[in-house]
Amino acid sequence: MEEGCVGVELMAVDEGLQSELQKQGVYVTTWDRLVNWGRGNSIWPLQFGLACCAIEMIATAASRYDIARFGSEIFRVSPRQADLMIVAGTVTKKMAPQVVRLYNQMAEPKYVISMGACATSGGPFHKGYNVLKGIDRFIPVDVYIPGCPPTPQALLEGLTKLQEKIKGQSFSGAMKQKQGEYPIPAFGKRGLEPKYNPDVWQPPTQHPFDYQRAPASPSTTPS
Ligand code: SF4
Repeated sequence: MEEGCVGVELMAVDEGLQSELQKQGVYVTTWDRLVNWGRGNSIWPLQFGLACCAIEMIATAASRYDIARFGSEIFRVSPRQADLMIVAGTVTKKMAPQVVRLYNQMAEPKYVISMGACATSGGPFHKGYNVLKGIDRFIPVDVYIPGCPPTPQALLEGLTKLQEKIKGQSFSGAMKQKQGEYPIPAFGKRGLEPKYNPDVWQPPTQHPFDYQRAPASPSTTPS
């Protein structure tokens, strides 16, 4: 069967027939749906935290919010047994090489949640000389969670978004798109070298606030 045809094959089975079969205890599905159901409901995060956001991540795993309801309570100490990296906290330039190294050692297919303003953009420290302005400069991020810090509920929402993404993937396709190993930056006297990984991030060609400086169009000019 060609890749991408699995969903079409299932749709080709008459819905009435499916309903009749289900009454008899026979369920028709595709290999991708079955595998992704398992993968999406058993995401194992890597056990590490970088700053205050990690406290919220820890709270998410505790009894009040209980991340076990989503199948992700098994925080693995070894990156080789984890398929989710939750970057929870400020990524200093000194710590960035270790984060990339851990990501490289994780099992494929692997995913990243950027939790909080610091991990996404440097947050309150974005003008600091020692803080990375977003972990997505070195590794690909699947879900961004805003906030300083994001609440445990926000992390659970991000996790369910990731589950939706995984369940919509073709497993064989996800394996083909292996992230592989990314270059680990070196921390030197002038900060990180290289400053970013061009395979996952490029500097913007336009200043993000340029639209504010552009002349207003006639239709929006107040009379
Ligand atoms: S985003 Fe806010 S709460 Fe999270 S690590 Fe940064 S400063 Fe701390």
